[in-house]
Formats: sequence, C-alpha cells, structure tokens
Amino acid sequence: MIYLNDNYLELPGSYLFSEIAKRVRTYREAHPEAEIISLGIGDVTQPLPPAVIDALHKATDEMAHIETMRGYAPEQGYEFLRNTIAEHDFRARGIDIDPSEIFVSDGAKSDTGNIGDILGVNNKIAVTDPVYPVYVDTNAMAGRLGSFLGNVWEKLVYLPCTAENNFIPELPSEPVNVVYLCYPNNPTGTTLTKTQLKEWVDYALRHNVLLMFDAAYEAFIAEDEVPHSIYEIEGARQVAIEFRSFSKTAGFTGLRCGYTVVPKDLAAQSQKGAKAPLNSLWMRRQTTKFNGTAYIVQRAAEAVYSPEGKKQVREIINYYMDNARIIKKGVESLGLAAYGGVNSPYVWVKTPNNMPSWNFFDYLLTEKQIVGTPGSGFGKSGEGYIRFSAFGKKDATQKAVALF
Ligand code: PLP
Repeated sequence: MIYLNDNYLELPGSYLFSEIAKRVRTYREAHPEAEIISLGIGDVTQPLPPAVIDALHKATDEMAHIETMRGYAPEQGYEFLRNTIAEHDFRARGIDIDPSEIFVSDGAKSDTGNIGDILGVNNKIAVTDPVYPVYVDTNAMAGRLGSFLGNVWEKLVYLPCTAENNFIPELPSEPVNVVYLCYPNNPTGTTLTKTQLKEWVDYALRHNVLLMFDAAYEAFIAEDEVPHSIYEIEGARQVAIEFRSFSKTAGFTGLRCGYTVVPKDLAAQSQKGAKAPLNSLWMRRQTTKFNGTAYIVQRAAEAVYSPEGKKQVREIINYYMDNARIIKKGVESLGLAAYGGVNSPYVWVKTPNNMPSWNFFDYLLTEKQIVGTPGSGFGKSGEGYIRFSAFGKKDATQKAVALF
C-alpha cells in the first residue's frame, strides 16, 4: 500500500489561469480574425537589462576555465551577493540586516511556499483576501487549513481587502499565529503606509505573531510614505520574515533569483516549550533541501545593484509604470473605479454595476477582445473586481486602452 498526502486531495484545481486560457481559446476558435490583447499576464515582457546580460556572459566564461569554474554554490548564497543585498537594499535605507540573515534562492514562490517547513502544523494562519494563492495552497498542502468548503478553507482566517475598507486589512478578530502580508499587493496593487504597517508590527509584537512579508513588488514603490521593507518599522526584526524577488524588479522571471530575510531575533516555540531561532532552522532546511542558486545567476543578480544596472532597471520599471498609468487613466475615463497602479504594476478595477468578475471578463473578451484576470480567482473578496497587468508591451497596452 502506498499512502499519499491526503491534504493534496483537498486542493481545488488551479482553475483561474486554465479557465482564462480555455475561454480565450474558445473565443479565438470562433473568431480567428480577432486580435486579442492580454492585460492578464503577471510576467515581464521587456528583455533583461544589459548590465545583467554582461554579468551572465562574464560568469559563463569563468565557468569555462579550470581556475575560475565553480561547483556547488553555498546553499545560503555567495557572500558577494549577500553583502551587496545587505548594503543596497537595507543599510542604504538605514536598516540593520546582516548578510548572515539573508538567504539567496531561486525565487519568492519557492521561499514563500517552503517557509512553512519550519513551522508547526498547529499554527493558525491568516491571509489578506484577495491573495497570491501560493500562501494558501502551500499551507493547505501542509495540513494547516483543514477542508476546502467550496470557496473558503475551514481553518484559514481571511482578512478582506475591498474598496469598503480602502484595501487596508483589519487586525484579526480571533487569535492567529502567522499572517501573510504582501505589499505592494498582488493582485490589488494597493499598499500600506509606514503608519499602517506599524500597526501590524505592533500587533505582532503584542500577540507573538509571525508576519510573512512578501515585498516582491518593492521596486515599483514611488511614494515616500510606503515602506520598501518591513524592517523600516521598529520591532519588525522580532516578528517578521521578508521575501524579495529579482523577477519583477529586474526581469528575472525566467532566470530565477530571489532572497529571504530571516532575522536572528526571530524565534518560535517547540511543542515542549523550548525556543529556537528561525534563522538556524531555515538554514538547516535550506542546506538539506536546496543546493544553491547558480553562480552565473547570482553574478547577474549582483549586477542589478551596479550603477548601470540600477539605471537600466529604473528605465524598465518606468516603462511598466507608464503602462500602469495608461491603463488606470483609460479605466477611469470610463467612469470605473480603479485602484493600485501607483506603487505597483497592477490596476484593480471595480466591475460596472457590481457585475460578477467572470461576467465582466467575458464582456471584455467578447466585446473588446481584451483579457484581464477575474478578481474572484484570487479569493472571495476579489469578486466584483478585475485585475489588469502593466507588464505588457506599451503599444499593445495603448491599443487595449483605446478599445475600452
Ligand atoms: N510573490 C508575489 C506576490 C508574486 O506575485 C509572485 C509572482 O508573481 C511571486 C511572489 C513569485 O516570484 P518569483 O518569480 O520570485 O518566484
């Protein structure tokens, strides 16, 4: 007999993107002449910055010579990259993060999904709703969420984020142990100010709660009052893990690199009451299950912080944020309420007359040949919204908006 992990049987199918693809395919078959423009994708379209490409070439050449070739990378990441990250992402902002608290990886999806390995199955989890689905599904796989009851998980605490509360989640009204926060947010594109995030850090300090802070879209922040890192908030070192990614920052979705910060001040308790530092546990987890990010990729990530790299990355981000402005303006000119798109590459749009997300999706596809992502696919509180992505090419984005 072979027993499987029953938790996997509770998972609903990954319905959202396959359903979108199916509906687009059906429409295309019936209208082969139609030009369909996608504002649905969350993937980048611009090529990697030249500084990154140069670093990749140089590192690849090193691998061709016996004196400079590299084998297994250190599981936690090369010191050259961890030092560069600590300097540019944290010390430059007056934040005290030591390179030994930084763990380089193949991206934030793996890290946000794997981090649960070091946490007990009995932790009560809270997520904002709508939500990046990885936090939910990986906790379900670990058996923390119980059964899936149609459209909600039995043991998961949902923190609704809608226009009614300005997309600012309320503190949980019941005890929880772990809260996932993603800011700037995917899918809503909204942010928390330093003052608003401080409320969460203070709450976590008061109640001994762990905050999982996903800052994958940090590079898109334009407004001063929006924190780039949770560690800008006093006390966060005692309560928060932060996830970062080079995917959206520098176009690494196909190259794969990210990192996670696990401060040494963070500790959790064993079933018997003994305390253990999460930094050591995550190190143990990574050294056992992960064999390091490729050397050439880490050199490419290092190049993102060079003066040319920074300039080139800024140009690419400005390109996407121009798209965001174009989309938002276009949507608003129709009289629809649009959120996000200022500190993030996503514009979150209220459907007209409270139309269900999928109905609005069908309307846009069949009447305007535009593809968005139905908000209800990200959670119950996403119903009545649709997400537009600014990661498309500029001419396609302009064309789509002209069709609105
Ligand atoms: N976190 C959020 C909120 C995301 O939207 C994404 C990707 O879309 C990720 C993490 C994954 O990033 P990576 O490409 O580094 O795995």
